[in-house]
Amino acid sequence: MLANLLADAIAKVETEHDLNYLAYYDPLTGIPNRVLFYRRLEQAIDLARQTGKKLGVIFIDLDGFKEVNDTLGHDWGDQLLKRIGKRLTDCLGKADLVGRFGGDEFLIMVPQLSHHLELEKIAEQVMSIFHRPMLVAEQELYVSGSGGIAIYPKDGENVNTLIKNADLAMYAAKKSGKGQISYCSGDMKAAVHEKMMLTNRLHRALANQELFLHYQPQVSAKTDEITGFEALLRWHHPERGLISPEVFIPLAEQSGLISSIGEWVLKTACAQNKAWQEQGFKPVRMAVNLSVEQFRSSNLERIIAGCLQATGLKPRYLELEITEGIAMKTAHYVIRQLDGLKKLGVAISIDDFGTAFSSMSRLKDLPVDRIKIDQSFIRGIGVNPKDESIILVMIHLAQKMGLRVIAEGVETEDQLHFLSDKGCDEVQGYYCGRPMSAEAIEKKLNGNWK
Ligand code: C2E
Ligand code: MG
Ligand code: MG
Repeated sequence: MLANLLADAIAKVETEHDLNYLAYYDPLTGIPNRVLFYRRLEQAIDLARQTGKKLGVIFIDLDGFKEVNDTLGHDWGDQLLKRIGKRLTDCLGKADLVGRFGGDEFLIMVPQLSHHLELEKIAEQVMSIFHRPMLVAEQELYVSGSGGIAIYPKDGENVNTLIKNADLAMYAAKKSGKGQISYCSGDMKAAVHEKMMLTNRLHRALANQELFLHYQPQVSAKTDEITGFEALLRWHHPERGLISPEVFIPLAEQSGLISSIGEWVLKTACAQNKAWQEQGFKPVRMAVNLSVEQFRSSNLERIIAGCLQATGLKPRYLELEITEGIAMKTAHYVIRQLDGLKKLGVAISIDDFGTAFSSMSRLKDLPVDRIKIDQSFIRGIGVNPKDESIILVMIHLAQKMGLRVIAEGVETEDQLHFLSDKGCDEVQGYYCGRPMSAEAIEKKLNGNWK
């Protein structure tokens, strides 16, 4: 009886121990998990506050871990993570703490620093674990990691801010080349703050009517006649004035705002084109840029059909521009999506052609109508014979594949002559007309424009 009670009590303690272990330790690597790391970091911050000392947080992210998983398999990926966890723990002092943040990310806490320079040596030790190969799947594997460092109190006075800023510094290290470690800086924090402020404001931009479209003419290289317009989005920020789409479109994409903004662009551009037709101008195409995020959405076809129906624009007067990067994605949804759009009767063009790596066999399978030669090649006309050769190849390729070609960013008469000589169908650029408001376009159409 007593023995039974004792056995029950022991089992209970063991279960509690197991539960505790599961709650605070990462089962794969056996090092503290995020929960325990946060708790210890919080305590260390309290202590640093009382003692007036500094504290370092290092965020480590492995470089190319996905490739390891993809090529060697998840089991070996797991083995690698275990090795890294152990090496990190072994290279640090007793007072320091290593935790697994998730996936291939590790966190290190270095408490009670008198001077932040003390961290430098520790950062070096941490990065040196990647100098030796790791034995995984009976192979010696060299992996590298990128690291970011945030220091209490300068880079944050609480757990979340410190980890966020260490992550930010890690991201900067990764961007500047892998296998490096960076300290969080004022510039990094300012850039994130700026991005956040702009994104916040962008949330209201549509409702506040701060977004508008400019239209840039596309012209036949042979006859000079206008063949279409490209709709280009503009944001008039109430305090900062005009902001480039190259700045705010990525923000719209990251925040999910692009779907509503993109739909507004489509509707506005279609309505404008229809309005010009109703005013009696010669019917031409309207090209609208699509973001990769819109392209990924399963609603795209329905949205475009809806815009055409609501505005009464015939599908053949709408062209959708996708970037070469989207077109070359091998994901199966790309061709399915393009086929669906083609069925609606709209045209499709590949924007910034030549800037990503096109595969010829892939191009052959895509239901596209036109390629837009990127401006970077046009700039080389008369300057760089290699650019000229590439342009010739692109025109030739398009002709052979039955595609039309338009050159972007044509700024001079010489560029125009070169292109029309070589058989380029259309041109777009400052030489023929800058992006302009709808009213400016109408004035020109009523005047000397063909
Ligand atoms: P893009 O689609 O390649 O558009 C062409 C860009 O080249 C435009 O810049 C245009 O103003 C500029 N450009 C045209 N001709 C010339 C020229 O002769 N010389 C020079 N130096 N530049 C010329 P913009 O309007 O700043 O747009 C930049 C990019 O932002 C666009 O590149 C496009 O990728 C994106 N974008 C613009 N509007 C939209 C939109 O409504 N939706 C999406 N998803 N992206 C958009
Ligand atoms: Mg474009
Ligand atoms: Mg372009």
